[in-house]
Amino acid sequence: MATDEGVRLLLIGPPGSGKGTQAKQLTERYRVPHISTGDMLREQIRKGTSLGEEAKGYINDGNLVPDELILSMLRVRLSQSDSQGGYVLDGFPRSHAQAEALDALLERQGQNIKAAILLVLDDETIVKRLCNRRVCPECGRVYHLINHPPKTEDRCDEYHCRATLIQRPDDNETAIRNRLRIYHEQTQPVVAFYKEKGLLKAIDASREILRVQIDIERALEG
Ligand code: AMP
Repeated sequence: MATDEGVRLLLIGPPGSGKGTQAKQLTERYRVPHISTGDMLREQIRKGTSLGEEAKGYINDGNLVPDELILSMLRVRLSQSDSQGGYVLDGFPRSHAQAEALDALLERQGQNIKAAILLVLDDETIVKRLCNRRVCPECGRVYHLINHPPKTEDRCDEYHCRATLIQRPDDNETAIRNRLRIYHEQTQPVVAFYKEKGLLKAIDASREILRVQIDIERALEG
């Protein structure tokens, strides 16, 4: 049987803990695709597909999209050729059932997870971060109005983009607090799941981006 050399990383953490930002660094380092279930869902909404229509209400209220929808979307994505050599999975699994489903899928394919990286951040810091978050609807770049503002007000810095930045509809305080509640109730069991398997790497996500990046690299090397 051929050995599995793919680098498969999971990024787990509460909303606003920097998963997307760190995922981008990791995908460059390991030359694997960044697969974000949140980005995939927003893309479906933009395209106006039936999946997007179904998912929209759950997302805007800060609730989890039902497992069947997520799993069928993800199975298709993970079967594509660019995912065969590995990936950074951002925002999945978010429930124990999703973690079990991923495990079963990997086992069928004789594949392994290299690590589950947990970004740790307290709730009040998250609320402050997310209320000030702005994103570019074109390239997905993320800004913070105080810590990392765009050079020109409300415009993406990317030369090829320059789109008007938006606030995600689920980045309002009511939805954020709901997302945090769901994270504690449904996603915390995923943390225990990977800890038991010896795959969990917990990282302090309150530090600056570069510091967090270095800590992740060290944890993966160690
Ligand atoms: P994110 O961009 O990762 O913050 O995800 C935004 C929203 O998409 C979440 O609040 C959920 O409504 C939905 N979502 C993303 N990933 C999942 C998942 N693995 N399971 C269920 N819902 C998800």
